[in-house]
Amino acid sequence: AKAQIGVTGLAVMGRNLARNLARHGYTVALHNRTAARTEELVAQFGDEGDFVPTTGAADFVAALERPRRLVVMVKAGEPTDAVIDEFAPLLDDGDMIIDGGNAHFADTRRREAALRERGVHFVGVGISGGEEGALNGPSIMPGGSAEAYAALGPILEDISAHVGGEPCAAHIGPDGAGHFVKMVHNGIEYADMQLIGEAYDLLRGAAGLDPAQVADVFRRWNTGRLQSYLIEITGEVLAHTDPATGAPFVDVVADAAEQKGTGRWTVVTALDLGVPVSGIAEAVFARSLSGNTGLRGAARGLDGPRPAPLGGAAAAAFTEQVEQALYASKIVSYAQGWNMIAAGSEQYAWGIDPGAVAAIWRGGCIIRAAFLDRIRAAYAKDPGLATLLADAEFAREIGAAQQAWREVVATAARLGIAAPGFSAALAYYDALRAERLPAALTQAQRDYFGAHTYRRTDRPGVFHTAWGQDRAEHRTD
Ligand code: NDP
Repeated sequence: AKAQIGVTGLAVMGRNLARNLARHGYTVALHNRTAARTEELVAQFGDEGDFVPTTGAADFVAALERPRRLVVMVKAGEPTDAVIDEFAPLLDDGDMIIDGGNAHFADTRRREAALRERGVHFVGVGISGGEEGALNGPSIMPGGSAEAYAALGPILEDISAHVGGEPCAAHIGPDGAGHFVKMVHNGIEYADMQLIGEAYDLLRGAAGLDPAQVADVFRRWNTGRLQSYLIEITGEVLAHTDPATGAPFVDVVADAAEQKGTGRWTVVTALDLGVPVSGIAEAVFARSLSGNTGLRGAARGLDGPRPAPLGGAAAAAFTEQVEQALYASKIVSYAQGWNMIAAGSEQYAWGIDPGAVAAIWRGGCIIRAAFLDRIRAAYAKDPGLATLLADAEFAREIGAAQQAWREVVATAARLGIAAPGFSAALAYYDALRAERLPAALTQAQRDYFGAHTYRRTDRPGVFHTAWGQDRAEHRTD
């Protein structure tokens, strides 16, 4: 019998995805540029299911039933194009090339358009959950045509994570929609990690807790509304002791955060779309700042307050305020992320269902959390919601948290502890709710120096004031 699906690129992700497919009863054709990886997979895990190891490209393609489903799990970028160039000429009308790598959505759009010309479906699939998720059930975000999804979707839904019996996989939209949504997922992941980092830093620096005590706080938070995979692993990490030195593990790790680029892609794309994602941007900037040793070294002697930890009852009260600040900031950063998804969906006519995105992130991926059920519910109530902050439930919660949130941001400023995520989220919240913004002044300045014109609050039209002459106002439209 022929294989129902094939995987080429058998490094850690491809290997685990192939094993996941085989464990679910699919016959899986295997291919890798370097044959040794294929042989190794079969030798180690061949008894987990039906694998069809192949060597050459023609061999691989011939092993697949029609329409062919060919999953590419190679290094993102040029390798993906090289693999497409190798396989596309061997395929027939209606066959599918499925890119499960971390491709930029613009590359996916380009590849999809090129392959469509040749009658081949190109399906860009965002896959989240790392190697563990690939093996045991990731969150899967497929783009591409509805026709391709009809032939591929059931398999992806089958091998994805499940929450409450529902698969964490759903058709996101045409061409690059899946990879776009995966990118925003990673951006939100950056923001979540930054906010958690700030909470930790404040609990140590302002409340005076040690890492083991902070771990206990996170474990407690993980039983409440903040419950999530990232809060859970934060508790684990903070409770861990370095075996070599006996010091808290977090204290022996160099404080320079690295990044592979999806957070940066999210921010660059958001700037192009004109959507403020300040939570994600602050997270990306914070990572860049942390690794800039030259800059940090040059600034080390700058003046600031010497924080005296709060201690006692004040520390306990502050800890509860930090929970509120973290939760409120998280709502803001998810609201921004969903606004970005809406903007991308509109720009590229993807028709993305915002509630479905929340549903498939409840399991398998790094930001998995009960919280996402709330977002799904908000969009179920009102599919046209302009911002999550306007949902009655979220509005009520953030309203209840806002006083504590302000206290935390004020305390951070007073003690000289950087909290860019908390502060930016609060600034966004206050800007959105403001009756009047200083943008009026910005428009007046632009008209002054560049004759860029302005609109008025009291009547329609476009106006310019002759600032350099008699300051008379002229209607210009
Ligand atoms: P890598 O990104 O390290 O890629 C290694 C694989 O790519 C090998 O199979 C390698 O073949 C193949 N390859 C590289 N260049 C070429 C080429 N020019 N032609 C053919 N094959 C090539 O593997 P990972 O498993 O870590 O990731 C695979 C994809 O999944 C990546 O796009 C990654 O971004 C994405 N991803 C990874 C996650 C993770 O947690 N690691 C999570 C989600 C997605 P060979 O053995 O011959 O060298």
